[in-house]
Amino acid sequence: MKITFPDGTSRDYDAGTTLTQIAQSIGSRLARESLAAMVNGALVDMNTLLDEDCEVRFVTFKDEEGVDVFRHSSSHVMAQAVKRLYPEAALAIGPPIEDGFYYDIDVSESINEDDLKRIEEEMARIVSEKIPFTREVLPREKAIELFEQLGESYKVEMINELADDTVSVYRQGDFVDMCMGPHVPDTGYVKVYKLLHTAGAYWRGDEHNKMLQRLYGTSWSDKKDLKAYLTRLEEARKRDHRKLGRELELFSIEEEAGAGLVIWHPKGALLRMILEDFEKKEHLKRGYQIVMGPQMLKADLWKKSGHWDNYRENMYFTEVEGTQYGIKPMNCVAHMLIYKSAIRSYRDLPLRYFELGTVHRHEKSGVLHGLFRVRGFTQDDAHILCTPDQLNTEIRGIITFVRDVMAVFGFEYKMEISTRPEKSIGSEEDWNRATDALKQALEDDGIEYKINEGDGAFYGPKIDVILKDAIGRMWQCATVQCDFALPERFELEYVGTDGERHRPIMLHRVILGSIDRFLGVLIEHYAGAFPAWLSPVQVKILTITDRSANYARSVAEALREEGFRVEFDLRNEKIGYKIREARLEKVPYMLVIGDKEAETGAVAVRHREDGDRGAVSLDEFIEGVRDEFAPPAIKR
Ligand SMILES: [Zn+2]
Ligand SMILES: [Zn+2]
Repeated sequence: MKITFPDGTSRDYDAGTTLTQIAQSIGSRLARESLAAMVNGALVDMNTLLDEDCEVRFVTFKDEEGVDVFRHSSSHVMAQAVKRLYPEAALAIGPPIEDGFYYDIDVSESINEDDLKRIEEEMARIVSEKIPFTREVLPREKAIELFEQLGESYKVEMINELADDTVSVYRQGDFVDMCMGPHVPDTGYVKVYKLLHTAGAYWRGDEHNKMLQRLYGTSWSDKKDLKAYLTRLEEARKRDHRKLGRELELFSIEEEAGAGLVIWHPKGALLRMILEDFEKKEHLKRGYQIVMGPQMLKADLWKKSGHWDNYRENMYFTEVEGTQYGIKPMNCVAHMLIYKSAIRSYRDLPLRYFELGTVHRHEKSGVLHGLFRVRGFTQDDAHILCTPDQLNTEIRGIITFVRDVMAVFGFEYKMEISTRPEKSIGSEEDWNRATDALKQALEDDGIEYKINEGDGAFYGPKIDVILKDAIGRMWQCATVQCDFALPERFELEYVGTDGERHRPIMLHRVILGSIDRFLGVLIEHYAGAFPAWLSPVQVKILTITDRSANYARSVAEALREEGFRVEFDLRNEKIGYKIREARLEKVPYMLVIGDKEAETGAVAVRHREDGDRGAVSLDEFIEGVRDEFAPPAIKR
């Protein structure tokens, strides 16, 4: 048989040769590093026998597929160790994830850090045993019987839902798992790993189901990479916005109030206000009009908009005086009613309605995560209604807006276009027109983009902007969605130059996305040390003794008069202690006030980064920080 390789070369082998043997014939290093192979586009195990002509590409840890195979195999090794230590444990699912893997396990004992150590040690034994992974294909009934005998009820449930007559099963020694594979050749490959932590996870992510224990781990081809990853993880942990949000008294999420519902405390609410004021100003500069819709609208309106059919499971409903209302999950509908409230001419367009709109969307409790995944949040949402001729300019205007705002926060970003999903409204022709308009706008500005097939909103395709934060993590924030369907459903019209009625096109767009989520990203991006213009407290005044309290108050008053955000600490504590505390609060400037300062009308300035900056007059200090404290005004 003839085997063709990616470089176009080919070699002849006897039918029945395994991929391992083929790799060996090319080089021992390739054989050692190959984790699986792509055969005619399908990923398979290295011990697969080939018996006819085909194309082969070996997959190593350098390939995305290789990393997934490696991490997924690692989860099997972990599961085998768990089964050796907890024979009663039932296994649910164990996929690879970004930077690692997990396995959801149903076991009565609560697994703690010491247990993870024991599991790691058992994994080391399994690795040293170099147990081969072998695949078997069982008739469905046989597979059910096998997993029933093993007490693997979750596997039985999953097999029962399979449409196929056969089930793929993998064994490694006495361990058996239902799995499509492929896996690395043997357990000896998973040498470099670490178990990280455990978390509760509902079976199938549904809070009505049993809570399982999710064991997280990571694995790498090289010890150095594991070490670097653990360092990165430690940095991310220090920046965790849930931890910093508590320490900096920004927000809380209370089970008592409801999961995924954020309560903003004074400093956090102030932080939000600063960000929102900045956004309002920038929107007004760009010809947007600020509007406000109600928190709930009649269910009939959601039927008309298509949300009822396409988005209902994410919505909250309530009934008042026999009428059903839907709490808004999006802000579009009220904006369309504003458009419809008057006869519009082409001269009125484009209309750009901007709303800091609070929306509620039901998310499964298993996916809620600090400010990143919540059930109620505020979007910096806008809807632009324009003529087809204006579409390109409007999209490009939004892209420029995104670029300018991201530069303010120092984010790099990349763009992606998401196309029509399965559940959607509108004609094929409109979808193509809308998708082309988005592509064209990016191409006109020379912006590279990636396509995500089927990832669009139900009413239109979209551009997604993905940010890169200070420690290299990616976050999806801004989106631009092109929509022909909603103007149709709501029969929006304008009178054109020809005196006839035409349908406008609608753009849905956000710049920061969810303000709540963006603040979560900002907290981690800046590790809580916001630039001075954004800091809820810009200056903290610290007195050395009680004698300077009155002068300290007058300094605070003078600074507040300037519009600066000021706090003071007049407590009877040592000044060193007060400085340490203010630094933990990440306040940019501290003003130390003693007798000398009070006598001369001065302030001793300290900065959170470089410490003592010496004494200056109060006026000098004010002039020195004025620009730094002012919100950035983007030059256009
Ligand atoms: Zn598997
Ligand atoms: Zn919208």
